[in-house]
Amino acid sequence: MRVMAQLAMVMNLDKCIGCHTCSVTCKQAWTNRSGVEYVWFNNVETRPGLGYPRTYEDQERWRGGWTLGKRGKLTLRGGGRLRRLLSIFSNPKLPALDDYYEPWTYDYENLTNAPLQEHTPVARPRSLISGEPTKITWSANWDDNLGGPHGQRDPMLSERVRLEFERTFMFYLPRICEHCLNPSCAASCPSGAIYKRSEDGIVLVDQDRCHGWRMCVSGCPYKKVYFNHRTGKAEKCTFCFPRVEVGMPTVCAETCVGRLRYIGLLLYDADRVLEAASTPDEKDLYEAQRGVFLDPSDPAVAREAERAGIPTDWIEAARRSPVYALIEKYRVALPLHPEYRTMPMVWYIPPLSPVVDVVRDTGHDAEDHGNLFGAIEALRIPVDFLANLFTAGDPKPVESVLRKLAAMRSYMRDINLGDAPRESVAASVG
Ligand code: SF4
Ligand code: SF4
Repeated sequence: MRVMAQLAMVMNLDKCIGCHTCSVTCKQAWTNRSGVEYVWFNNVETRPGLGYPRTYEDQERWRGGWTLGKRGKLTLRGGGRLRRLLSIFSNPKLPALDDYYEPWTYDYENLTNAPLQEHTPVARPRSLISGEPTKITWSANWDDNLGGPHGQRDPMLSERVRLEFERTFMFYLPRICEHCLNPSCAASCPSGAIYKRSEDGIVLVDQDRCHGWRMCVSGCPYKKVYFNHRTGKAEKCTFCFPRVEVGMPTVCAETCVGRLRYIGLLLYDADRVLEAASTPDEKDLYEAQRGVFLDPSDPAVAREAERAGIPTDWIEAARRSPVYALIEKYRVALPLHPEYRTMPMVWYIPPLSPVVDVVRDTGHDAEDHGNLFGAIEALRIPVDFLANLFTAGDPKPVESVLRKLAAMRSYMRDINLGDAPRESVAASVG
């Protein structure tokens, strides 16, 4: 056993209201500079949606050059030695400007200087790059603005179409770099500029060593490394290390309006990481990933951790870690796209709401235990959709989490209404 410590985050998606405060405060703190106008270390995506950069989850798009193989190892695809050598110099596929967006500002002067006229003057968008007027067609949270079908409230809609609309769903997915246990950004960097800090697992770019190859941009399946086109270097989320080193939370966690981000320390067995990342069946990856975490309350683990040089107050912090409790003890948090095999360290409590049972039209809330326990399909957000995000398509762990969340809601509702919690609900909460 080789014990190491890892800072990790769990986000409770039921509490995200999509206000983007986290993105804006992160930007003000870290990327409010020229060259990184389009860069969002933290972004909040609307689901279903294309994400940011656009369609980043379509891994086929980024194939060519360095790719993460089935067994969790990084390989160069195709060709002989010459092709491999050349692919070092010819960058594999990268997201284009259209997949991010052309940064713009507004021509505010028009608001104040426009002559008196029939129509109210508007602030027209102007490219920050060329300075010319521009048409905005896509940006970091564009899906937000596309929600809701036109004519949704049209009384002439057929019953079938009305039901389709009633079954539509959306939720927000805030994202930062995953500070992976098996970071493919680091493995793909020819300059060795990306490294994982041994003390807390934060993944950083050494700006002095970065030569701007952008292999990390291609190599990160979450597309969470960005290229600064002014400095010619790669940049990424730093887990706010200057803050966490002095005991402060990350900016995104501190300013989160929904209070949904939990930060904590995990202890894990570094000897088991590659083996877990190489688990042949994708559907087993969630369990395999959980398998590398160590119980910080186990005296044998604590002894090994001390031997590995982990300070005793850190081991104590790992014992009290909300992240460990949510992932391991309560088992309500799930990893994002474990099938990418990088062992992501930002996990999510999947959303239970919207909760109305539209399928059976019973009028019951889906969190009512009698309803949800019998008919998981009554949830408006399809379990398969969540499973594709969090468990490589395996619905069972997602169902298990949703049942626990539903039971907890019923339990708290009973208590808040002054009723004794129903026995079946209390048993499910455990
Ligand atoms: Fe690297 Fe991407 Fe993982 Fe972040 S999410 S550590 S950038 S591979
Ligand atoms: Fe969601 Fe919190 Fe970000 Fe608002 S600040 S969008 S609630 S994660």
